[in-house]
Amino acid sequence: MGNSIRRVGLLSTVGVGEDQPFYYQLGRKVSIYLSERRFLETPNKKSEEWTMLYTVDVSTCELSLTKEDGGKGLRIKIQSEIRGKTGDFVLYGLDLNVTESDGRVYPTTTTDFFEKNRRSMSDYSRHIHAGGSVTVSHLNFAGIGDRWNFTVLEHKKKNEKEEAHAVTLAHYFVSSDCMTDYSRNKTDVGLSVVVKIRATNGKLDVTVEGPEQHPALGLRYLLQEAMRTKIWKPTLCPHCQYPVPTQHDDLAV
Ligand SMILES: [Zn+2]
Repeated sequence: MGNSIRRVGLLSTVGVGEDQPFYYQLGRKVSIYLSERRFLETPNKKSEEWTMLYTVDVSTCELSLTKEDGGKGLRIKIQSEIRGKTGDFVLYGLDLNVTESDGRVYPTTTTDFFEKNRRSMSDYSRHIHAGGSVTVSHLNFAGIGDRWNFTVLEHKKKNEKEEAHAVTLAHYFVSSDCMTDYSRNKTDVGLSVVVKIRATNGKLDVTVEGPEQHPALGLRYLLQEAMRTKIWKPTLCPHCQYPVPTQHDDLAV
């Protein structure tokens, strides 16, 4: 898969360093901040929350995950603000709530777009696989030029009649000036987080992959293919499908 910036294991039981905040700087314009785990408590509920913030120039994207104590509920929020050079902008928000009951997951989603002079796109597909299992995919794109968010939310069912037993949320954030900006300040960054949620033993089993780094061009190809076919796979990113040797590997040969 991609180049892992940090195997966060955000919601895994063996979260390495999950109680430490984490800051990562990529060049001059790009940074990633991951909060430590925070404990929230109301009279009825206890939960744990993590927040991750990407910043590229004045564009930002914040992703937060809140996990209920007992593993029955999970909330993921994405809020992104992308600004162009001429006052144009896109605000994108996704709010996903997932609960577990009787070995099934019950997701509810709200998405918001607000934009000026710019574009966003949504699409939907339903695929019935051999054997009768069903994948329903919701695809959302919001961006300006070569700076964009792309989210895919998949519901997986064992058959047409059943409720979903698993939900996957993939989020990509890409910023690239590679076509037009030859200055030293150019940004070329592609980031991904994939959250897999499954009902297991009366609880939500949650795994988080990422944040991982990809070439912006690879994710542009992934976006085009996913929007064209309405099917998402992480390996649509050519760099993930055909990993190139790192510099270190080159030296070892
Ligand atoms: Zn990749």
